[in-house]
Amino acid sequence: MTIIFSIFIFSFGLVLGSFYNVVGSRLPKGESIMSPPSHCENCHHQLSAWELIPVISYIFLCGACRKCKRKYGVFHPIMELLTAVLFVIAYLCFDFSTELLIAWLFISLFTIIVVSDICYMIIQDKILVAFGIPLTFLRVLTPLEPWWDMLVGGLFGFGLFLLIAIMSKGGMGGGDIKLYLIIGLVLGFKLTFISIILAAFIGLFVAIVTRTKKGQPLPFAPSIAVGSLLSYFYGSELFNLYLRLLL
Ligand SMILES: [Zn+2]
Repeated sequence: MTIIFSIFIFSFGLVLGSFYNVVGSRLPKGESIMSPPSHCENCHHQLSAWELIPVISYIFLCGACRKCKRKYGVFHPIMELLTAVLFVIAYLCFDFSTELLIAWLFISLFTIIVVSDICYMIIQDKILVAFGIPLTFLRVLTPLEPWWDMLVGGLFGFGLFLLIAIMSKGGMGGGDIKLYLIIGLVLGFKLTFISIILAAFIGLFVAIVTRTKKGQPLPFAPSIAVGSLLSYFYGSELFNLYLRLLL
């Protein structure tokens, strides 16, 4: 049965991932999510039903508009695929449980803000609120061990990033600070701590690879997303491995 559920969840993740791409790339521009229907940015050709099938239509159309042949770029299909793969990983980790709902919301939050941060360097408050409230509620229903760990994690994540923002005089965006409040509430202290270390290393790596100059703005949400999800799914294993290397 697991394989059938996995295939179903993968398809569900692709469709949601496609929707999150629309949310992340339209909301920051003040556009409606529903209208106009998805269209080619170049020739305004409105996409038909089969052209909307995530990833598959991209492969069949060789990544180009059917009418004007303009290339679409691989960023959005990659985000759709990532959403689907992460949804399946979450299911394999948590089976059908409240924690699975938390995981799916957590992944969804990251998909949207990674898109909006990469496209516009913006993490929108309404997205943080829309996901922060149900995530907090579900974390209260499915508490960490001990229950107050969510408060410690939230205060730690928020406080540390606020401190970095003050010390770097605005080098850290307000969205990142508020985002870490939610991450802390979901993960608790230890995994939040691990996620920050991972995000810092990934951010540094990205800055080196993309040859970002000092003071030049770089979207940090992708590094936070990768660091937090790695920590959420494998944080305890990573921590034990680290301890074993030390001792
Ligand atoms: Zn076109």
